[in-house]
Amino acid sequence: MTSELSDALRGLEGAVQADLAAAADAGALEQVRITYLGRKGALAGLMGRLPSLDPAERPAFGKVANEVKRRLEESFQARQDALEAAARAAAAATEGLDVSLPGRPLPVGRLHPSTQALRRICQIWADMGFQVYRSRDVETDERNFGLLNIPLHHPARDMWDTFYTTAEGILLRTHTSPGQIHAMREYCPQPIRVILPGMCYRYEQITARSEIQFHQVEGLAVGRNITLTDLKGTLINFAHRMFGQERRVRFRASHFPFTEPSAEMDVECIICEGKGCSICKKSGWLEILGCGMVHPVVLQNGGYDPAVFSGFAFGMGPERITMLRHRIEDIRYFWANDLRFLEQF
Ligand SMILES: [Zn+2]
Repeated sequence: MTSELSDALRGLEGAVQADLAAAADAGALEQVRITYLGRKGALAGLMGRLPSLDPAERPAFGKVANEVKRRLEESFQARQDALEAAARAAAAATEGLDVSLPGRPLPVGRLHPSTQALRRICQIWADMGFQVYRSRDVETDERNFGLLNIPLHHPARDMWDTFYTTAEGILLRTHTSPGQIHAMREYCPQPIRVILPGMCYRYEQITARSEIQFHQVEGLAVGRNITLTDLKGTLINFAHRMFGQERRVRFRASHFPFTEPSAEMDVECIICEGKGCSICKKSGWLEILGCGMVHPVVLQNGGYDPAVFSGFAFGMGPERITMLRHRIEDIRYFWANDLRFLEQF
């Protein structure tokens, strides 16, 4: 009985080794495993006959059976490893693995185009000795309008549609100019050279040309003997640093309630170099900022005696400058959080 079973075991071992050697792929190998080594396979069938043996014969048969089983499992593992290695080698040969391909790029954040423009503007003014002065977004009606020479019912208020809050006399600033009053009252009677960057808010229809929020950079210089010549020289210097040393600049007379005289500064079109294009509406010039000599009433409201002190102020929009520079045709892109727009800067 024992020898008969042992012969069957050895026969089985020979058959398995032959089939393993013939298995050419993972599917054939799996079939060999199921047929011989699986839970209902041939080996399990032979082992299942162990209880029918004479108890004295069982240990000897069990020993042989375990040795055969171990050898078969080793052979199976070796064949599996060999087939996998061959499959990898074949894939490398046919699919052409290129180890010199660049890796997948990691996503890297970047600064918002408005932040980039603000930092550039602040950098230039810092180089020219202007400090950054931070002022609040929520203002009183008095500082946003009254102290800037725009009293109640003044027609100039129609220039700004305002977000009023439920608290009387409290509003979201429509421009950065109220910061001038804060700065003057803080520094008076010292001379001042500051820029005031920040967000402004207007209750307007949102269109390609106007948003309800946008940045402004205000500038203010107050001291003794400051003249219109200083205003022009300083702003021309800024325009050259911002847009290039060769860029031509011109001033046009204008009107603001808080400056007298007032002007708007144009630079030669940065797209067409002054030849005339659709961005500059064929004029060759782009309006960049408004400016003027600080109105005596505003100086007085800031605590300075207009008979002794004088000053100039200016204001510009970083978004507007960015739009001109990159030919962006819709201001709504700036706050729409669309990565397709933001990733271009
Ligand atoms: Zn142009």
